[in-house]
Amino acid sequence: MLSPISNESYYFDSHAHLTSPAMVSMVDDVLSRASEAGVKKLINICTDSASLEQGILLAKRYAWVYTAASTPPHDVEEEGETFFPIVEQHAMAGHLVAIGETGLDYHYYRSSAEAQKYYLRKYLQLARQTHLPVVIHCREAFKDFFSILDEEYIEGGKHGPGVLHCFTGTLTEAKEVVERGWYLSLSGIATFKKSEDLRQVAKMVPLEQLLIETDSPYLAPQSKRGRPNEPAYLAETAQILADVKDISIDTFRRQTAQNACVLFKLKEPSIFEGSRLDLFKT
Ligand SMILES: [Zn+2]
Repeated sequence: MLSPISNESYYFDSHAHLTSPAMVSMVDDVLSRASEAGVKKLINICTDSASLEQGILLAKRYAWVYTAASTPPHDVEEEGETFFPIVEQHAMAGHLVAIGETGLDYHYYRSSAEAQKYYLRKYLQLARQTHLPVVIHCREAFKDFFSILDEEYIEGGKHGPGVLHCFTGTLTEAKEVVERGWYLSLSGIATFKKSEDLRQVAKMVPLEQLLIETDSPYLAPQSKRGRPNEPAYLAETAQILADVKDISIDTFRRQTAQNACVLFKLKEPSIFEGSRLDLFKT
């Protein structure tokens, strides 16, 4: 069923860990502050059985909170095997709007590269089977990531849908993401004083392929640094990026919210006719 057509623009937080141990006990307050700050939809990223169980209950209580799940790359050695069948079950049951965050992280190597690659492949296969988009965490591992993506995630000659979350790579890596028809999501890091390179990335990425996120409770934007982050702080990141793109905040949040609705296949009337990005067409 379509939600009623609304001209009101809103923020879409494409990545928050609402049912992580650090946030779950205050989630009702966090969501009420988010709503007051104009955040009207968000994706709750669940990274283990406890956060997923609570996430599914949360999504039942809040129709505007949607669930994604997978073991993140850091934890695959310890939890990959036990959590995969649980994610699979919930994906098949239609409880998830995305698979993720999965991916590769060669910065800390908390799990071996081999284990990370193995689970990335498994989750990409699951995403294809269940027709769900993927949410990717990739740090210092783009070469391996793109080669696995190009092997595992092509259908009819085109890449399946996905987003590179909390992007902090180079301009060249960003171009590779965009060329594959993917979305790129920017977090509070884009507001940090030292993040000029990332703002150059934001300038280059087509507005139709850009998402925004908090990654709460991590990565609070510049004016809130050192505090636990929450979706209500998304506006600061959005404002900086709208300035970088030299467009109004209203246009920026409408388009990024629309992009997220397309990616996560949330029924929402098109706000911008003709700007809908069909990921399976060139
Ligand atoms: Zn995350």
